[in-house]
This record gives sequence, structure tokens and C-alpha cells, in this order.
Amino acid sequence: MRFGVALCIMLIAATLRASPHKKAGRQAQLAHHSVVAVGAKLMQCYPDFIIGYSRNCIIWKDSTRMPYEVAERHATFADAVDNPCLADQFSQKYPKGILKANPAKGADPGRIRYEPFFYKMYGKDQAAVRKNLTEVVWCPKLVGQKILVTKVNGVDKKIRAISRELDRHPELKPYLTDIGGTFCWRNINGTNRQSAHSFGTTIDLNVKWSAYWQWDCKCTDEDANLGYRNRIPQTIVDIFEKNGFIWGGKWYHYDTMHFEYRPDLL
Ligand SMILES: [Zn+2]
Repeated sequence: MRFGVALCIMLIAATLRASPHKKAGRQAQLAHHSVVAVGAKLMQCYPDFIIGYSRNCIIWKDSTRMPYEVAERHATFADAVDNPCLADQFSQKYPKGILKANPAKGADPGRIRYEPFFYKMYGKDQAAVRKNLTEVVWCPKLVGQKILVTKVNGVDKKIRAISRELDRHPELKPYLTDIGGTFCWRNINGTNRQSAHSFGTTIDLNVKWSAYWQWDCKCTDEDANLGYRNRIPQTIVDIFEKNGFIWGGKWYHYDTMHFEYRPDLL
């Protein structure tokens, strides 16, 4: 895929440059991609919402022109996470499939979210999001837990497809029981950022088998030095990715229970 290849080349080029902020160690960079590449991908992934793009805008079905790239680049990764523009949201390549190495420092593809994009698509407040939610019985054979997810962009249908496929893997049952959560209107712990769980597009698997960077470092410091760990089997990751979900286990700030509908990154 041309977009994927271009992203990959730009990311490699960006990674090869020495970071001005860190003296040692692998450090992931942010690389803005053209509005043409990102706009085309968004139109393909979200046809109910995104109908075009122009010089520096994404064009929504209701004619809203959402600015793509702001002039100023961020001095630090923490600043990009806290105050991103839409271009930042697509600035890191998500590595589909088996991870070849632990994520480099600051490699969090999908963790940077330009919040107005999500509010506009899934609901601007809790009441608006709730109107779009529907109940799904998660893994009816193995688990049978009722969960709430959004119908927007057919996320409920994707979750049902994932659930059906996982239900054929009894060996995975421990990871799939006691779902940690789906919809919850809240901020990310220790931040003013809206959690992706607020939009009904996200599912956390069994907390018992999960690793989360904040639990390990007992901190919320984005610049903390973290040691990666994971116990979630690759089969689960592959089934989610096949259906348009990214996995928080591919982030330097790892969150291995977390899967989120972001087909534009895959
Ligand atoms: Zn989560």
C-alpha cells in the first residue's frame, strides 16, 4: 500500500535523525504526513464522515473544514500528546503484526489523539455518545458478558466479528473473561485528556493479565523510563488488528489490555 510504504520510509528517516531532546537510547520521532495521504485514508476508513480534503483541511460531510497541520512543531513528545494538531495524530506508524522489538521511547502510535476529531465523530459529550451505544454479548460461548460499544462506523459489528472469532479459542478464555471495561466517559488517569473509552470504540481485556505503564512506574510522568512487558497472546492481537483495532501493547507507554478502533492507522 503506497500510504503505508511512504509512512514507513518517513518514519525510518525520522528515527535515524538524532533526537535533540535525548542524549542516548532509541527515541521515536513525530513525522507529519501530507494531508493528501492522510485525507485519502480517512475517506476510505470513515466514509460516513470524511468526504474530502484540501490544502490544509480535512472536509467533513457537514462541510466542516478541520485544520490539519498547525505551523508550530512540538518541542517535546509530552507536549505533542497534550496539545496535538490533527497531523500529529497520524505522525507515527503503527506496526501491524508481531512486534519485532520493544517500542522505542516515545513510540506510541495511536496514543496521540486530536480530541475534536473524536468528539465530532462519536459524540461531543457523554449524552451524545450514549445515544450511539448498543449492547453486545461478548464471546457468548466462553464468557457471555454484556458490554456497551458504539454503533458509529459499525464498531459494534466489528466487535461482534472479533467476539465470534475469539469464541473459537477456548485456550484464550482467561484473557477474555472479566472484561476490564468498554464505554466510560472519563479522563485518562493523571491527565486532562479525554480517554478513548469515552467514545465506545475501545475495549480493555481482563485486567489480571494486563500490564500498564502507570502501574509499573507508579507514576504518570510521560518522560519516565519504562521497562516493557506483556502477557497478551499474539492470536488476540491479530484478530483485533484484522478488524480495524490497534493494540496498546505496541506503545512505549504500554497498556496491554487496551484495544481501540483506529482503522486509519492499520
Ligand atoms: Zn483501555
